[in-house]
Amino acid sequence: MASSIPSSFHILGAGPSGALMALALSQLGHSVDLADPKSDAELKARSRAYAITHSSRRLLEKLNVWTELLPALVPFRELDLSDAAVERRVLFSLQDLDPSSRAHGAIGWILDHRPLMEVLLHRLRSERKVQLHLGSPPPGPDDNALVIAADGPASPARQAWGIRTWLHRYRQGCLTAKVALRGVASGKAYELFRPEGPLAVLPLSNGCFQVVWSAPMELCQQRAALSNAAFLDQLAGVLPDGIEPDLLLDQPAAFPQQLMLARRLSSGRGVLLGEAAHRCHPVGGQGLNLCWRDVETLAALARQSESARSKARRYASRRLVDVVLVSLATDLLVRLFSNRQPTLLPLRSAALLLLEKLALFRRLSLRAMTNGPLRILSPLPN
Ligand SMILES: Cc1cc2nc3c(=O)[nH]c(=O)nc-3n(C[C@H](O)[C@H](O)[C@H](O)COP(=O)(O)OP(=O)(O)OC[C@H]3O[C@@H](n4cnc5c(N)ncnc54)[C@H](O)[C@@H]3O)c2cc1C
Repeated sequence: MASSIPSSFHILGAGPSGALMALALSQLGHSVDLADPKSDAELKARSRAYAITHSSRRLLEKLNVWTELLPALVPFRELDLSDAAVERRVLFSLQDLDPSSRAHGAIGWILDHRPLMEVLLHRLRSERKVQLHLGSPPPGPDDNALVIAADGPASPARQAWGIRTWLHRYRQGCLTAKVALRGVASGKAYELFRPEGPLAVLPLSNGCFQVVWSAPMELCQQRAALSNAAFLDQLAGVLPDGIEPDLLLDQPAAFPQQLMLARRLSSGRGVLLGEAAHRCHPVGGQGLNLCWRDVETLAALARQSESARSKARRYASRRLVDVVLVSLATDLLVRLFSNRQPTLLPLRSAALLLLEKLALFRRLSLRAMTNGPLRILSPLPN
């Protein structure tokens, strides 16, 4: 029935998920209200860098924002994965990517939060069909509107809809810091498994790097409170051989880590999008890419003329498998590699040996990481 087709979309939350969703819907010709209690300046202010995978690259290309973001995207062509406890190392290179992704010359890209939000908010302001309500209360949604809750991990909308979550709080927290480093080969990113938790070193521009350093939460908080010199000393002790920290470029911040999955991804004509629906450990930099695959799925459903309720139901069932698989895979990685348990060491050593020696294993794991686990065996869209 024509009257039940949503005439508009009401998005709560203008973080990276909500903002990209608004852009995707407006480009399909839909009217969108996008609301966030934060102001424009507050939305851009987060000090964080995201690892961007090929699944996100394809979506950003489709939405015509890739070219605009290119100056801010720092590609990495090698991923150096090592396990300190078993002293094994695997080097992923462009050769391990599927040919269509390889043509783009990067395993992935690192993108700072600020330029991402600058581009998205700038584009949204020029979209005729988008009404932005930043730092001010939004109007109520139309009766037929699909309500999209992209209001982050604490999601007030999810709570108001009575959707409970499965939640596991990791003992591990994670500390993020931007640092200038010496001795890193150009175009290389690192993921080091250490007994206290994984450490990622992600290249930004001009010799700067984002460090994502997991460890027990109290230790992260203590490290975040150290003087600059003491922090750099501790960091020097855990970085791979030959890499030296020179300068701390922002205030290190400690975050608790959790695995969270909403028990339902929809309620009536409402859906949960991005971290309102799921949250996983930052190991492997999957978080935002998983959020943007939510955006891709909902945008595909928005092309179809059906009621908001039916769209919401179909979105919930289509997203479930990807979200569950990525959540479980990141959880398994953290459990398996963040310890020195003697019974697990041979298994870890064997897994890394297989990756080191067999290109097929590297290709399959890189394909899962960069395109999502559902694309391991299915053809890639290009
Ligand atoms: C330490 C750390 C490192 C990470 N590193 C990576 C990485 O390398 N790669 C990666 O892909 N991901 C990473 N992530 C995950 C990434 O930060 C998240 O996936 C991403 O921020 C999710 O975006 P979002 O828009 O869903 O939620 P958020 O960014 O949390 O945005 C939610 C928005 O909703 C707004 N809001 C709140 N309440 C309301 C309300 N009542 N009404 C309307 N709006 C509301 C908030 O103001 C906020 O702007 C990391 C996360 C952490 C904690």
